[in-house]
Amino acid sequence: MTRVFLVSLMLLQFTLVSVQQEIEIGREANAQVRKEVPELRDAQAAAYVRSIGQRLVRNAPGPQYPYSFTMADYREINAFALPGGPVWINRGVLHTATNESQVAGVLAHEVAHIAQRHAADQLTKATVANLGLGLLGAVLGNGGGASAAQMAAGFLTNGVFLKFSRDDEREADQVGLQILRTSGWDGRGMVELFQILQQESTRNPGSVETFFSSHPPPQDRIGRLQGMAGSGGTRDSQQFQSIRARLLKMAAPKSMPRS
Ligand SMILES: [Zn+2]
Repeated sequence: MTRVFLVSLMLLQFTLVSVQQEIEIGREANAQVRKEVPELRDAQAAAYVRSIGQRLVRNAPGPQYPYSFTMADYREINAFALPGGPVWINRGVLHTATNESQVAGVLAHEVAHIAQRHAADQLTKATVANLGLGLLGAVLGNGGGASAAQMAAGFLTNGVFLKFSRDDEREADQVGLQILRTSGWDGRGMVELFQILQQESTRNPGSVETFFSSHPPPQDRIGRLQGMAGSGGTRDSQQFQSIRARLLKMAAPKSMPRS
């Protein structure tokens, strides 16, 4: 009985925020992020990241979100997804990756967070925790109406967005891997990226600190994904290598501010 009640509560959580609301909230949050995060304004590199992202999106499950892919001019190895479509990837990922499938793996993980609507769950928790139950009522349509801006503020607390749960992370790895493989890339790219993160954590801890603060340890994920990664598919491209070389010649990326 209690269990059934809990399960229905959990299911309810996913329906508190509609897809349309999620998209609006993501748009607001992205406007906020744009004010704070330096975008790498290089047409070729931006188009390249976008092309990988769009190829993944074609194979993503879930609602037709207006996905976007933007490169942050930061050196650290990190990426993040906002509700309803916006994905950011740090320039540092492209510096550190050794082939295209690894970059596609990072983006596939973020696309999976969006496609699986993990933000809707986080938004519900954030709304309850930060803004009180009154606002939750408003979101549910019983009150004055929470604006997308208020909800975005709940998602971005002090400029840092909420952590996804471990279950969400596991699901993003699994669904992301599926998206990666269906889109034609070698699934091993995702595993390799985690191996790189693991190496960096001893060699250059500062470069992966943000990533580790918001993600489960790579060794757990490597073990789980190795059996599912398969082989075959695209590992690399001439384009990746030339974009990477281009990025490495530019002025050094900035460091992410410490939060
Ligand atoms: Zn994640």
